[in-house]
Amino acid sequence: MVECFTLSFYFSVLTAFSTVWLFSLVLALAAAFLAQSTLPHPHPQPMQIRIQPFTVHKCVPLTISRGTTATSTNLWLQLEHEGIEGWGEASPFTVGHPQMKSPQRTEAIAQALDAFIPHITGFSPYDYDLIEAQMEAHQLISAARTAIDLAIHDWLGKKAQQPLWKLWGLRRDHLAVTSVTIGINTPAGAHQRLLDWLAVVDAKAIKIKLGSPAGLEADQAMFEAVVAGVPAGAKVSVDANGGWTLAGAIAMSHWLGDRGVTYLEQPLPVGQEADLYKLFKESPLPLFVDESCFNETDIPILADRVHGINIKLMKTGGLTPARRLCETAQAQGLQIMFGCYSDSTLANTAAAHLSAYATHLDLDSHLNLTDDPFRGATLQDGCLIPSDQPGLGVTYEPATPPMDTAYNFAADSIAENTEWLADSLAIPAVESTFTAGTFTAGTLTAGSGEIAPEIPSEPAPAPSPELPPELPSEPSPDLPAEPSPEFPAEPAPEPFPELPPELPPELPPEPSPEIFPEPSPEPPPEIIPAPSPEIDPEIVPEFPSEPFPEAPPEIAPEPPPEILPPASAPEISPGMLPEPSPGFSPRL
Ligand SMILES: [Mg+2]
Repeated sequence: MVECFTLSFYFSVLTAFSTVWLFSLVLALAAAFLAQSTLPHPHPQPMQIRIQPFTVHKCVPLTISRGTTATSTNLWLQLEHEGIEGWGEASPFTVGHPQMKSPQRTEAIAQALDAFIPHITGFSPYDYDLIEAQMEAHQLISAARTAIDLAIHDWLGKKAQQPLWKLWGLRRDHLAVTSVTIGINTPAGAHQRLLDWLAVVDAKAIKIKLGSPAGLEADQAMFEAVVAGVPAGAKVSVDANGGWTLAGAIAMSHWLGDRGVTYLEQPLPVGQEADLYKLFKESPLPLFVDESCFNETDIPILADRVHGINIKLMKTGGLTPARRLCETAQAQGLQIMFGCYSDSTLANTAAAHLSAYATHLDLDSHLNLTDDPFRGATLQDGCLIPSDQPGLGVTYEPATPPMDTAYNFAADSIAENTEWLADSLAIPAVESTFTAGTFTAGTLTAGSGEIAPEIPSEPAPAPSPELPPELPSEPSPDLPAEPSPEFPAEPAPEPFPELPPELPPELPPEPSPEIFPEPSPEPPPEIIPAPSPEIDPEIVPEFPSEPFPEAPPEIAPEPPPEILPPASAPEISPGMLPEPSPGFSPRL
């Protein structure tokens, strides 16, 4: 009897331990399965990512308070996965504040992509949150993020075979009209620029750049000359690009308000957001900020002192953060507008997919290019309309005719005007250099410190280890994460009279039936009014300030609210960059 009891006792204990062991085993297996399912393990088909620089030339150089831009070298990012290719673009820009996330010049963007892309080729385009977490962990600059973000969205739309605006449930039948921009110029030059715009674009809105270093009287004279040619019913807005003082901005807001201006953009320099509150109380015009707003973290500072924000994809880091910014701003009662830098049709079409959010649009940079290689959203009755094509709906068509017939003004008068700009205002030219790199499965297979003369005639269906024939070949097979050492230093610009024409010689004779009515065999000359051998767009030349005659008395300064600095992260060297891990969480 005792033996039977003992056996039963031992059997029960053994059974209990077996049950616990089995239960533990099941738990361990379940945990391993869950962990495996959430790990960002390398995709069996790594993304192939290729970046290709391309230079676009403006029909008419654009001068704002900080400088003049005649050309821009942008980056075309091609992401291939599962036989589908998504495209993105990055363009250089500056907001004129040394401590902001600027300037983002082309070479800096390319170097950032050089170092970063190898860290995400193991993902798939479906892994947006993980890729974005990597971008955040590496503190990738916003223009580089934009190129990746746009390519992923283009890929996803093509995979779903739907345009992005439709996938997001946004409308495109009641979009705001897009404005065309008149840069700082002489009154006569600015007036003529408007007429040239109206000759090729059915503009329903005009944005006038003020904040001239020549002073407020020069701003007023130029404004009056432009509005004299504005068609009836067209809206007029003003962007000072931070070129005014608080007193000047208050005075100009009343002066412009009396003349029917729709809104006033970035009246004060970036970094002076505290004074925006004083201007907000005084201004009869709606105030928008551009340089002062990058992403949704800026909204709490701005919500009580502006009426709206100008969103640019190069500032936000792409479409997903732009949508977050839209919804954050709208939740605070702010209006939305979309703008651009020297973006081609590719990036402006991406922004057009979000146009339904906007009260105002200023997506005109591609309309002022002689050699935009892309086609996408089309201008219809003043509105930039994205197409029904899947993804971004952008095609590569480098055979773009020059616009010099319609813009004879550029060839005939710009030299005189730029001479005035250079001599009277000493406004510097903004230039950028670039390089190229090709990435396949995390390996940099091509990089060049030389300026490529053109992009290939056909977009490559998939990245190839072979360089395009026109690119100088300097293969560096094992450079996954280090910035390319071949990137050139900032080149010293040549004086204006010695600048050679840079238009591609192969521009075809046929005009674009959409925008450019007539071609001309003579390309517009490359004009960069560089008055000084040192070209730095961040440097705003100092001019003898002319007191505005009607400026109100100085308002006693109030203690400025504390402005939180942009979030910073510890410096991470490329060798220390973490690999994809389950620790990265979505930012949504
Ligand atoms: Mg602006």
